[in-house]
Amino acid sequence: MNTQDVIKLFDQYVIANYGRLPRVIDRGQGSYIYDTDGNKILDMFPGWAVSGIGHCHPKVVKAIQTQAGKLLHMDNTFYTELQGKLAKLLSERAFGGKSFFCNSGAEANEAALKLARIHTPKGKYKYITTLGGFHGRTFGAMAATAQPKKFENFQPVVPGFVYVPFNDIAALEKAFDDEVAAVMIEPIQGEGGINVASPEYMKAIRQLCDKNQAVMILDEVQTGMGRTGKWFGYQHYDVVPDIITLAKALGGGAAIGAMMAKPNVAASLVPGTHASTFGGNCLACAAGIAVIEAIEEENLLENAAKIGRYAADKLNALKSKHTIIDYVRGKGLMLGIQLKAAGADIVSKCLENGLRINCTQDIVLRFMPAMNVAKDEIDKAVDILDNVLNNIS
Ligand SMILES: *Cc1c(COP(=O)(O)O)cnc(C)c1O
Repeated sequence: MNTQDVIKLFDQYVIANYGRLPRVIDRGQGSYIYDTDGNKILDMFPGWAVSGIGHCHPKVVKAIQTQAGKLLHMDNTFYTELQGKLAKLLSERAFGGKSFFCNSGAEANEAALKLARIHTPKGKYKYITTLGGFHGRTFGAMAATAQPKKFENFQPVVPGFVYVPFNDIAALEKAFDDEVAAVMIEPIQGEGGINVASPEYMKAIRQLCDKNQAVMILDEVQTGMGRTGKWFGYQHYDVVPDIITLAKALGGGAAIGAMMAKPNVAASLVPGTHASTFGGNCLACAAGIAVIEAIEEENLLENAAKIGRYAADKLNALKSKHTIIDYVRGKGLMLGIQLKAAGADIVSKCLENGLRINCTQDIVLRFMPAMNVAKDEIDKAVDILDNVLNNIS
C-alpha cells in the first residue's frame, strides 16, 4: 500500500480524533523512524516520550519475543513472577513504594485519584491540580487537567477539582481546606509547555499535604523513567511524594502504566476497590524490566543529564541567532523552546527536512529525544532546526 492508500483507509475506517501528518511510518530504530516513501527521519520526540530508550531497543525487543513464546497474558487471579519483579525494580528506585499496574498514563492517574480518596479521612474529596497541567483524557484525568478547552465540550466534568496557578504557593495555601484529599501536579508540566516546578513549591505542597492529612501525587508519566537525568522527576527535589504515576517510557514502547504509592498509603487499596484486566500484562512487564536494566547497563541516566546539558547549550546558542526564540527551559532531555510566535509551521518544515519535533501550547517546541541519543544526532537536529529558522521570517 502506498501512503495515499493508507490515508484512505483512515479516512474511511479510523475515527479522525487526531491531527495526523501525512506520512506512514513502518519502522523505527534508535532515534530514527522510516516512512514508506523511503524517508529516514531523525526523531527528537520518539513516541511522544514512550520510546524513551529509542525505537525498538534490542533488549526490549528480545524480552518481548522471549516472553511471547511463554505466556502472553495472565490475569490477576494468579501471581506472575514478572509483575513482582518489575514492582521490586521500581520500588528500589523510588521510596520503597508498592505498585499497581495498568495500561496508560490516564489509568495510572485514575488509580491515584481513587487511592487518595479511599486513603484519606472520610469527607475529604477535593483534588487540587494546576493550570496548564495535563493528566490524560479519561473523565477523572480530564477533570484533573486544568485546561478548559480540553473539557469544555464534556460538561459536567467529575466534581471535586480545584485549579490553582502553577508554582504559586499563596494560591495553593488559599485553596487548601479540610476537604482536600490530594494535590496532584507534574514535576515538570509537559504538555503544558515544559514548566518546571520550583523547589519551594514542591516543599510547600509536601508541607500542606502533611498538615492537612492529604496525599501528594506526582504525575511522572512524562518526567519518569530517567528522562530528566534521574529516575523520577521528584528526585531533583528535597521531597518525597506519597504517590507517583508512570506510563509512557516505562514499557519502552509496550503499553503499560503504573501507580506507585508508599506502603502505608498503598495498603488502602484492598481487594474490590480497584482493578485492571490487562494490568501487569506479561509482555508489558517483561518490557518494563528490560527498560530498567537497559537504562542501568548503558548508563542512560548519566547520558540523559549530560546530553541534555549539551542539547540545551546548543539550543540556547540558536536563541542568540533567531529572535523568534524566547527562551529554552527544562531538565535533562525534557526541553522546551518557547517561541514568540506559533510553531506549527516550524514543526512541519523540520519534518520535510528529516527532523521530527513537537509543538505544544501553540508556541513551545518540545525537544525530547531518546535517552541514548548520540551527540551527533543532537548536532544534526539542531542544524536542521537552525536552517528551518533561517528560512522562516
Ligand atoms: C501523556 C500524559 C498522560 C496521559 O497518558 P496516556 O497514556 O495518554 O493516558 C498523563 N500525564 C502526563 C504528564 C502525560 O504526559
